[in-house]
Amino acid sequence: MDKRFCLDLDLADLKKWCEERSVKPFRAAQIYDWLKKGVTDTSDMTNVPKDVRTMLGEDFIFGGFKVLQKFVSEIDGTTKFVYLLHDGNIIETVVMRYNTGLSVCISSQAGCKMGCKFCASAKAGFGRSLSAGELVAQVTVSQKLMGEKIRNVVVMGIGEPFDNFDNLLRFIELMNDPEGVGMGARHITVSTCGIVPKLNEFAQLRSQVNIAVSLHAPNDAIRLKIMPIAKAYDMKTLMDSCREYTKLTGRRITFEYSLFSGVNDSIECAEELAKRLKGMLCHVNLIAANEFPGSDFRRPDKKTVEAFRKALCDRGINATLRREMGTDIMAACGQLRRGMENKE
Ligand code: SF4
Repeated sequence: MDKRFCLDLDLADLKKWCEERSVKPFRAAQIYDWLKKGVTDTSDMTNVPKDVRTMLGEDFIFGGFKVLQKFVSEIDGTTKFVYLLHDGNIIETVVMRYNTGLSVCISSQAGCKMGCKFCASAKAGFGRSLSAGELVAQVTVSQKLMGEKIRNVVVMGIGEPFDNFDNLLRFIELMNDPEGVGMGARHITVSTCGIVPKLNEFAQLRSQVNIAVSLHAPNDAIRLKIMPIAKAYDMKTLMDSCREYTKLTGRRITFEYSLFSGVNDSIECAEELAKRLKGMLCHVNLIAANEFPGSDFRRPDKKTVEAFRKALCDRGINATLRREMGTDIMAACGQLRRGMENKE
C-alpha cells in the first residue's frame, strides 16, 4: 500500500496506528499536536521518543514543504511561499492580510489540466493532484511560518479542486475536525472553473463551505475562446447547476469574472451577464486581468472596469471589484511555479 502523507492522518488514524505498533495510546495526541502546529519533520517532535519517531518515518511520509522561495510584498505584506514537496513537485501558497486577519490561498494540484488560456498554471503543465493532508499542510505550515493564526482559506491557487474531489472533501473534513485544525466551513472557499457534475455532487452535501465559480464570460462564444471546460459544459448547464446549488444550500454563489481588454469587458457583455444572473442568489467578483510574461491577455483600464461594475449594479447584480494583493510579487496563481520550472 502507498505510504500516506503525515497530515492525511487524523487523531483516530494515529490512535489506531499506536495500537498496531504497540505505542502508548497517549502518543497519538502528542503526535497530532505537532502536525496541527505545522511540523512535518519527525525530528522536531521533541516530546516523542526516538524509536516512535523512527516508526512514524517508516510508515508515513514526512518532510516536504521545504520553502524554496519566499516573497513578501512591499505594498501590502502579502507573502508567497513556494514549497518543494517530498517527491519534487512544486506548489505555491499565498498568505494575505485583510481586516479580518490572515487568509491563505492554497493550491489543490501541482499544475492544472484545465487549460484556461489566461492562466500561468495551465502553461506550466500538470504534475499530480495533492493529497488532503498536503492541502491542510499549506495552511498549518504557512501559519507556523507567519507566526500568526490563519482565519480563512481559499482553495483558489494552482489546480482545479473539483478535479481532486475526494481529497478536497477529506481536506474539508480535516479542517472542520474540532480535534484537528478546527476551522468552520464558512471560513473555507472553494473555487471551481465549473465542473458541473462535481458541483451538483457538492451541492447535495449541503456544505456550508463557500463556492466560487470562475465564469469570465457572459456567453458560450466567449467562454469557449478562453476556457476549454466550456466545451464540456455550456453556459446553460452551468447556470442551471449554480441555481440548483443556491436552492439546495441556501448559500450565495460567487462568480469570479476576470476582465480581459477587448475580450469580455464591454458594456454589452455586462448587460448579457446581468440577464444571465438575474434572480440568482449570487455575487460577482470582478478582477482586472493579471498580465504575466507570455500571456496574450491585457488588462482593461480603470474606467472600463468601473463602467462594467456599474452596469451590473444598475441591473440589480451585486458586483464588487476584488482588491488586488501582492502585485509586486506576482501573487496570481502559477506565476512563480512556472518561473521556477523554466529556470530548472
Ligand atoms: S484558472 Fe484555475 S482551473 Fe483554469 S487552468 Fe488556471 S488553475 Fe486551472
